[in-house]
Parts: sequence; structure tokens; C-alpha cells
Amino acid sequence: MATGCPMRCVWCDSEYTFTGGEHMSQDAVMDQVRAFGVNLVEVTGGEPLAQKEAFELIARLCEEGYEVLIETGGYVSTEGLDPRAKVILDIKCPASGEEARQDWSNLERLRADRDEVKFVIADANDWTYALEIIRKYNLTQQARAVLISPAWGVLDLKEVADWISSSGLELRMQLQLHKYIWGPDVHGV
Ligand code: SF4
Repeated sequence: MATGCPMRCVWCDSEYTFTGGEHMSQDAVMDQVRAFGVNLVEVTGGEPLAQKEAFELIARLCEEGYEVLIETGGYVSTEGLDPRAKVILDIKCPASGEEARQDWSNLERLRADRDEVKFVIADANDWTYALEIIRKYNLTQQARAVLISPAWGVLDLKEVADWISSSGLELRMQLQLHKYIWGPDVHGV
């Protein structure tokens, strides 16, 4: 297993995952997770589901009793994922440049008691788009949470907060806390 992502979102802050990292066997990943001594594991990327082996790894993690969260960009189908894992599904907005690659069938597999949907927005048009999709697919009912995450450094956060609070919808504004704490260029914290 390795790093990587088939998408190229304009505002991507994980470009280091396109080529970096090291190849590891599933067994080595499992050993590493056990060594951390944690109960919760988040499988993220890049795009973790772009590697077929990730599905098997996720099932193994669930089987060993870990709470498993999966951050996925919405391009790869979530069909076949171990149902014990919780999905945080990105919906790509127009400013990402990857909107057209969305696999909309992923929305049909959302479980209202456990999965979350995330929109990274980079401008007012993205916000309008997110609202349209949230309403069209009734996402506040179909998912456990709907997250609105402003792309780093391009939006006035007070304005985003106003958009959200005046929408009348139950949405959660999500800031990339690690960037506020450690700075935008520090990875793996
Ligand atoms: S899906 Fe995620 S990792 Fe891949 S290009 Fe988009 S933001 Fe970057």
C-alpha cells in the first residue's frame, strides 16, 4: 500500500501525498496501528479508496474492533466498504475543478446514523452549489452531519459563518484546526 490520489483539486493541500510516502504491506500497516495503541483509526489520503487493498485493510481494522473513519474524495465508489466503517464523503464543488468526477451513487449509500458529507468551498459560487446539493439530496437528513469547510486562506470566515447561520439548515462549519495550531505547511500532525 502507498499514498496517492487520482484527483487534482485546485486547492489541494495534500499534494505531498501524490508521490511521497512509502510502500507498506497490509500486515505492516496493521502492526503499526497496533503499536500506536489507539482505538480510533482514520483512513485518509490522498484518496485511500483508489487502492483496492484499502477495502481489505479497512475490513481487517473493523474486525479487530477499531472504530474506523474513512475520508474519501467522492470519486471512487464506496460500494463494498465494510459497513462497520464510517464514511466522511467529500462532494467536490466547482472551484475544485473536479466537480464532474463525482460518483453520485455514493450518496445513495450514506447511512444517516453514521456517515458525514463534506463540502470544501472556495468562493460564493461553491456555497450556492453546496446549498443546492444539500437540498436536492436532503443531506441534512441522509447524513449524520453536513460539514462546510472553507478552503484555506481564500474566504472571509465571518462571511462563511453568516452564510451558514442564515441558511436555516443544520450545517457544521469545519475549520482545519491543525493549520491554525501548527501552521499551513506542517503535515502529519
Ligand atoms: S481528492 Fe483530496 S487529496 Fe485528492 S486532489 Fe482532491 S483534495 Fe487533494
